[in-house]
Amino acid sequence: RSMSSVTIPPPACMLRPLEVPLRYLFGPGPSNVPPRILAAGSRPIIGHLHPEMYEIMNDIKKGIQYAFQTENNMTIAMSGSGHAAMECAVFNTVEPGESVLIAINGIWGERVAEIAERMGANVQRMVKTPGGYFTNTEIEQAIKKHKPVLFFLTHGESSAGLCHPVDGIGDICRKHDCLFLVDTVASLGAAPIFMDKQNIDILYSGSQKALNAPPGTAPISFNDRACHKMFNRKTKPVSYLFDMTHLSNYWGCDGKPARVYHHTGPVSGFFALRESLAILAERRQTKQHSVFLVLRRKPFFICVLQDLRLPSVTTIAIPEGYDWREMLTYIMKHHHMEMTGGLGPSIGMVMRIGLMGYNCEKTNADMALHALADALKNCKKSKP
Ligand code: PMP
Repeated sequence: RSMSSVTIPPPACMLRPLEVPLRYLFGPGPSNVPPRILAAGSRPIIGHLHPEMYEIMNDIKKGIQYAFQTENNMTIAMSGSGHAAMECAVFNTVEPGESVLIAINGIWGERVAEIAERMGANVQRMVKTPGGYFTNTEIEQAIKKHKPVLFFLTHGESSAGLCHPVDGIGDICRKHDCLFLVDTVASLGAAPIFMDKQNIDILYSGSQKALNAPPGTAPISFNDRACHKMFNRKTKPVSYLFDMTHLSNYWGCDGKPARVYHHTGPVSGFFALRESLAILAERRQTKQHSVFLVLRRKPFFICVLQDLRLPSVTTIAIPEGYDWREMLTYIMKHHHMEMTGGLGPSIGMVMRIGLMGYNCEKTNADMALHALADALKNCKKSKP
């Protein structure tokens, strides 16, 4: 028998056209992508090492510098989701055996703790229940005790709906010779962040939340302190793909005359990211595009202190006696709307509603509230 005769028949599903429903993405991400960004992502592909692509990457770098409010040269977009940026930050700045301090008040700190443990760091955890926050005094005490090389904090805790204060923490880290790493995947573009002014050493975000780009790229920036640590290490980072020595060259940040092939970046994803950053630049940074979901209806109450609410993700308590899964299924089926349950430690505690960037309009907030009220009416109380 010839090698050309296939024994596995073509799967029937592959002979049907792609079907993608239209949905209101009112969960904690991804958010709906506006037509302008979708159009940018559908432009013809060019080579990842073409001069026009370098120019687009240089534009992205400037767009991220604006979004992060930083002048850091070492500013790039990861080829990968928010997790790629999380791993890049930790893998490059920490060496095995070094102490790392992680603030955990939801799932994201725990995730970074696991990433750091996997690469052999000595991980110290500071833990609060979801929705809790850390005072600067608590943070300084823990830093004094554990002497970490890196302190991690989530700015927009999307599993808890909390936007953590950042002011003053960078100064504390500097005083104790520790790098300050901040996650703004769920908050960038929805809550203000000022990387340089707030002395944040490493900052990352994601494309698919308030930036409204498709998932799959992730902005990240390192200041000089972070660069000094990561480019003077004794061991190589465990990941080849996320090694900043290579990525800084790919993004033209290392001062070398030529960019050398390292990996093939997501060309369409970069086009879309550039457009989303252009839209952000057209808005004034001070006028954050956000409406808070206002809940006047009785059974829902918000789980976070008003001052600490994350504008992009609202966590509401599950109404007494209702099954949250049933409510979410009802809302998806009858309103074509995604909302989600909790995540990690907040599972079973909350439901989460995200209104991010382009989705962040009063009409959408009203629609979300209407869907919730409808679910309340039609999902029978399943517990006594
Ligand atoms: N950090 C935070 C605060 C997030 O909300 C998310 C995404 N839910 C991530 C990190 C991880 O991002 P991704 O899913 O794009 O890998």
